[in-house]
Amino acid sequence: MLSSEKIIPTTCPFCGVGCRLDLHLHGNQISHVTTPYNDLTSKGNLCVKGRYGWDFVYHHDRVLTPLIRKDFDAGTATRRRAPARRDDWREASWDEALDVVTTRFAEIVEKHGPDSAAVFCCAKATNEDNYALQKLFRAVIGTNNIDHCTRLCHAGSVVALQMAVGSSAMSNSGSDIYACDVAIVTGSNTAESHPIIALQFKDAVMRHDTKLIIVDPRRVEMVNFAALWLQQRPGTDVPLFSAMANVIIQENLCNNAFLDARTENFETFAKAMQDFTPEMAERISGVPAEKIIRAARMYATAKNGAIYWSLGIPEHTHGTENALALVHLALLTGHIGRRGTGLNPLRGQNNVQGASDAGAMPWHYPGYQESNDPRTVEKFRAKWGHTPPVGRGLTTTEIADAWGTGAVKAQYVMGENPLMSEPNLRHAHHAIEHLEFLVCQDVFINETGRYADVILPSATFAEKDGTYTNTDRRVQRVRKAFEPLGQARADWEIISAVATRLEQKLKRPRTAYWAYKHPSEIWDEMRELVPAIAGISYERLETERLQWPVPTLDSPGTPFLFGETFPRGRAKFFPLVYQPSVEEPDEKYPYALTTGRVLYQWHGGALTRRSNLDFAAPEAFVEINPSDAPRIPCENGSPVRVSSRRGNVVLRARVTEKAAPGVVFVPFHYAEAAANTLTIDALDPQAKIPEYKICAVKIEPATLRELQDALPLDLIPTLAPSAPRAEPMRESF
Ligand code: SF4
Repeated sequence: MLSSEKIIPTTCPFCGVGCRLDLHLHGNQISHVTTPYNDLTSKGNLCVKGRYGWDFVYHHDRVLTPLIRKDFDAGTATRRRAPARRDDWREASWDEALDVVTTRFAEIVEKHGPDSAAVFCCAKATNEDNYALQKLFRAVIGTNNIDHCTRLCHAGSVVALQMAVGSSAMSNSGSDIYACDVAIVTGSNTAESHPIIALQFKDAVMRHDTKLIIVDPRRVEMVNFAALWLQQRPGTDVPLFSAMANVIIQENLCNNAFLDARTENFETFAKAMQDFTPEMAERISGVPAEKIIRAARMYATAKNGAIYWSLGIPEHTHGTENALALVHLALLTGHIGRRGTGLNPLRGQNNVQGASDAGAMPWHYPGYQESNDPRTVEKFRAKWGHTPPVGRGLTTTEIADAWGTGAVKAQYVMGENPLMSEPNLRHAHHAIEHLEFLVCQDVFINETGRYADVILPSATFAEKDGTYTNTDRRVQRVRKAFEPLGQARADWEIISAVATRLEQKLKRPRTAYWAYKHPSEIWDEMRELVPAIAGISYERLETERLQWPVPTLDSPGTPFLFGETFPRGRAKFFPLVYQPSVEEPDEKYPYALTTGRVLYQWHGGALTRRSNLDFAAPEAFVEINPSDAPRIPCENGSPVRVSSRRGNVVLRARVTEKAAPGVVFVPFHYAEAAANTLTIDALDPQAKIPEYKICAVKIEPATLRELQDALPLDLIPTLAPSAPRAEPMRESF
């Protein structure tokens, strides 16, 4: 370490694994990033994103000053909005921008009621940012129209786990794999989406003889480490996992003591499972019955069996049933409530667990306290000083629909990008044109920001304090390494300033509850309201990394859940029936499309495409099996057009055995070939999660010209000076 070097320990801003990052600093400049060998999560390793992806912090596209659309100035509030270009905004002071935001929100809410406003919270932002934003919308505006991208990833898992056991978080830890004999890993491209957990899976296989059963339509990297690979057709998880349940019941491999003591509704469930024979599941899923039987026996007879899954399970119109089918396997065998077992939905973004915990949900106040329970409302009223609303708000996809119908007129977006993440993007683009007022609070101007009236510049992870909660419920500190560049501000500071002004404009009684000086004060307020985190203080986080529930200051935390009981008492079985996906391949659209991630990019690409990582994976592609390529026809690298009933994209073909015959894969990071142009907006009726993982497409050859026309990425540089500068906070802020 050089004498001028400072090291700031913080948490990775990318995936839900939550590795510790040590930022090595010279002044305001990060020179490199390391992680300690004794870190509980990373164990000395980082993937490329954590190690090299931080340079987006200094990218010249950063928004460093508030921006107001010039046509907003012209008073054309009822126009159909169009995406803005560089010259369509002008710089503004914080005073002016905050005044515009709060005046327009107040006007719309007073005229049309609180539910004419909605907010997207952010799975990238801290717990404190998300808590403050949902509080602003509940306490000051008075709406539950609050959601974030968990709706678009694990909502099916959340609903299923709440129904069956009463808690939706990951029950164990990623590193529990070392205590596990047999793990089912399904719907998860772990090596690219959760690379450090994948590293631990590989280590457990190589050095501890752990057996992996990979269940995935694609030949993902983890298949190379699998004892057994079940390659099912997309959308057939219920018959496949229910057939495993059938085998476990028929062969009397159940843990009867566990069933008797800790579950209910088994008899009804067992009867329903009689239909799901391995042969029936083979016909639907394409997985040989013999492999289904082997998998069932391996998992059921393990000393410790665990199930890990990611978005391939919940992102279906029957995503809740898919997750329930996995829950049933754990309940039948009693593989839950011990180290090395459990039900483990791997969370995608760095703080998607924490944003949900903080109440960024339309029917859950912080700590999953029901928004339709008057006792919850009273509890929060007593703390917040305003009466928040009872009842359910709209989900992300319902909010996007409500833009189109005019039910939602004023939208606040913190850090999210619905115009990349919503399904059937053409519909979402049309809908957003009808909004009367849109505010985006972000680090960059993304596809959604291009429609915004006002852009509020926010700080990156390196410029603010707070906490993230990783995929295994571990609360970890985010530490400010240097002051925000330009006039950017931490999200919680911006929200507090908006709330204070909006209280005044809506003539709400002024409260002292927005005078936070540091995010630790927000966290302490949250701890008072959420028993599961009551024992997690900032002081403890200096030396400990605690997994909730941590009910008291002397509690050591909870590395695995459900040791003695389930939050709902007995865990419940639910009889399932097989329902095909909404849009199966047919003669006109003969391929099943599935979407997902690549190692070097992250979500809508707003950050990674502005980092050096983009050089490693700069271009969208569609994976096609070699047996399908001649029928299109195409070769590896040739341009093709992929079309669904909703839109089309032009990208390069990647001919590879990784794709199953008849199934193609497009990553969802690339705006110029946005996978969600193709996906269908059919929803799981319970979780309201869209069916991202299967729709029908056709593929035709395209020309190089068409590919080139699609390629230039329209990143919008800000109007801010190119040399970032730190400025003291304005007094009037
Ligand atoms: Fe960051 Fe996830 Fe990579 Fe760890 S595995 S370094 S948390 S992106």
